[in-house]
Amino acid sequence: MDRPIRETFLPYGRQWIDEEDINSVIRVLRGDYLTTGPFISTFEQELANYVGAKYAVAFSNGTAALHGACFAAGIGEGDEVITTPLTFAASSNCILYQGGLPVFADIDERTLNIDPKEIEKKITEKTKAIIPVHFTGNPAPLDEIYKIANKHDLVVIEDAAHALGATYKQKKIGSKSDMTMFSFHPVKHITSGEGGIITTDDKEYYEKLLQFRSHGITRDPDKMVEDHGPWYYEMQFLGYNYRMTDIQAALGSSQLKKVDEFLNLRKKYVSMYNDGLKEIKDITIPHINKEGSSSWHLYVIRLHLENLTGNRKEIYNALHQENIGVNVHYIPVYLLPYYQDLGYKKGLCPHAEKLYEEIITLPLFPAMTEKDVVDVIKAVKKVLDCYSK
Ligand SMILES: *Cc1c(COP(=O)(O)O)cnc(C)c1O
Repeated sequence: MDRPIRETFLPYGRQWIDEEDINSVIRVLRGDYLTTGPFISTFEQELANYVGAKYAVAFSNGTAALHGACFAAGIGEGDEVITTPLTFAASSNCILYQGGLPVFADIDERTLNIDPKEIEKKITEKTKAIIPVHFTGNPAPLDEIYKIANKHDLVVIEDAAHALGATYKQKKIGSKSDMTMFSFHPVKHITSGEGGIITTDDKEYYEKLLQFRSHGITRDPDKMVEDHGPWYYEMQFLGYNYRMTDIQAALGSSQLKKVDEFLNLRKKYVSMYNDGLKEIKDITIPHINKEGSSSWHLYVIRLHLENLTGNRKEIYNALHQENIGVNVHYIPVYLLPYYQDLGYKKGLCPHAEKLYEEIITLPLFPAMTEKDVVDVIKAVKKVLDCYSK
């Protein structure tokens, strides 16, 4: 066996934590509030300002935030919600939590985002909402999606877990839709350990989200049916404990200060990848969106399997042999066993299924170095040379 390109393993994503982040968490630990304190609304306001939304409600994680958005949108038993199959299970699980039915609309083979023409085909009287995902940070075609939503009176909940800092037609993702979700899992653009948020301009959604996050409880005298005294609160619907802690919020605030720096590093590494990989005839490098700018959460290449002697699994394994931690995003959601048991059939979204066989995600995160990027390029060239027909 020859030597691997790298001596040490390079993951596909990883957080960036510096002394400033650590100190901001320590400050909370020394203070009065570990949760339900002042750091949460500060972080919410900062994030809302950053994306250009009126309100933001922080949650314990992005999945809980999506659940809250489905509740606020009024998704209930039997309602259909259209989403993409090429996403993490959370984008569709949040529909199931509310008793709704996820309906998968196939992707556009070029952009890998949900295809508005496919959405149109899936609309019925029961359709209540659309959950587009900005896959890899590349904005979904929001104008077309809104046109459909307005025509059929549907709510749009953007899953922007990949898209903090991305723009669509000069405006930041999170400033436009009914509700937009961002995630702060450590592989995402900024982290709070676990964490998520919904941004919205709608006061009614905002208030529902706040109440949903804390058991459905309100302490607002104007909203209560009775008033027994200063201790009194009312639980008015079944909510959850989905609160973010002040520890998480302080870390989130500290990270948000660096978000543009993080985005610039991602963009720099992407242009290195593009330059280094564009000549390789056996792969397609990511599509560049002309309607907006990607926040480059992931760098996904497509293998031209017809030109290769190995399949994706062999190439994936060969790259791991080189200590390059490539990954695959995503297994089409409805192919997962739980969804298969619900009755979704193979063949439902042929573009997503075909694409799933061809994709590999290369490492991309701000804390990697230029040398790491060069190693990945070398390893991809070495492995593909080996498998080229
Ligand atoms: C990460 C992610 C989520 C869920 O976020 P969590 O904070 O991990 O719960 C949802 N959708 C997509 C597309 C994601 O990548």
